[in-house]
Amino acid sequence: MQFNSEMNRRFRIFACILLAGGLTLPAAAQETYKEVYENKRSEVYYGKTPYQVENYPAKFRSKRPRNVILMIGDGMGVSHVFAGLTANGGRLFLENFKHIGFVKTNSASDYITDSAAAATAFATGEKTKNGALSVDTEERPLKTLLEEAEEKGLSTGLVSTSAITHATPAAFVAHQGRRSTYEAIAADFLKSDLDVFIGGGYKHFADRQDGRNLVNELRNKGYQVLQDMDEIAAIRSGKLAGLTALEHNERAAKRGDMLEVATRTALQILSANKKGFFAMVEGSQIDWAGHQNSIVYLVEEMLDFDRTVGEVLRFAADDGKTLVIVTADHETGGVSISGGDLSTGMVKAGYTTTGHTAVMVPLFAYGPGAEQFTGIMDNTDLHRRIRKALLKK
Ligand code: MG
Ligand code: ZN
Repeated sequence: MQFNSEMNRRFRIFACILLAGGLTLPAAAQETYKEVYENKRSEVYYGKTPYQVENYPAKFRSKRPRNVILMIGDGMGVSHVFAGLTANGGRLFLENFKHIGFVKTNSASDYITDSAAAATAFATGEKTKNGALSVDTEERPLKTLLEEAEEKGLSTGLVSTSAITHATPAAFVAHQGRRSTYEAIAADFLKSDLDVFIGGGYKHFADRQDGRNLVNELRNKGYQVLQDMDEIAAIRSGKLAGLTALEHNERAAKRGDMLEVATRTALQILSANKKGFFAMVEGSQIDWAGHQNSIVYLVEEMLDFDRTVGEVLRFAADDGKTLVIVTADHETGGVSISGGDLSTGMVKAGYTTTGHTAVMVPLFAYGPGAEQFTGIMDNTDLHRRIRKALLKK
């Protein structure tokens, strides 16, 4: 005992000397110390081999779109885009877009929106309170763009890297006062006429408090219900429910090209309808990287989303009658780029919060009707413009 406490005392003195020494370390060594020991705020993304960015012509086969693909980078501000651009050696698929604007994001209840209220604005054209999914501030249901597209005989689809019952995709088919009621949201999917949905959230369909088995109910409605991405990718027609994770999909580094493959699969199925289609594709975890103040996670998710933008552009350029809108529901992290190197792809970021911010988010439009999506828009204007272009309403 005597010996141990003496050792402890000596160790404490030794540690104090080391700490005091640390304060006088040269600047370079202190940088290393910070990068290793501070939280994710001081992470550095070190560039990897960039992917090839194709150029797509802005020549289309009609003046009006037959199809609309809305791509939402959850939490994606200008800094998130530029972090991705830097990491990929100065190029992104997003640079193919010539019609660009900004979107104001405030909700009916808050200066700073959440994803539920923001997606409701896109889906219904109405601002609601934070947390609400396609209901108004009194919790009365609001018809969504996707539901209107179904009524007109168009095909519809949702693809997400989160659970498909999570706020962003859910707002297009569910009508709930609270975004956390996942089982009620899953049940709302059964009320819709969705042709394709691919994302996580299997447990909210299969393992429920109310004893319903929505997987069986989906099968009875004619859906192919699959959990394996390879099996999902092989589907070419018919109704498809791809439930690729119990809850959320893994982060990009682990889930691989799930978003690209799921999006390509959905577009193949949806494009069989000559009347047209509406699809929403979400890069959900750009937001979560912002919440974590992690530039590594952020860049990985941003590049995964941009490669999926490339996949969508390949389809749209070939089809010639598809309008592609890429935007965000809000910004997350108050992210700025505090250092980088276009030749190596290294990026450093600074943050002002671990939450969302109020700042306008970028919007990129490509395809017939893209010229309608420039300037400063409200998130509800986006709904009106898509509705007019796609549903002629
Ligand atoms: Mg989301
Ligand atoms: Zn968020």
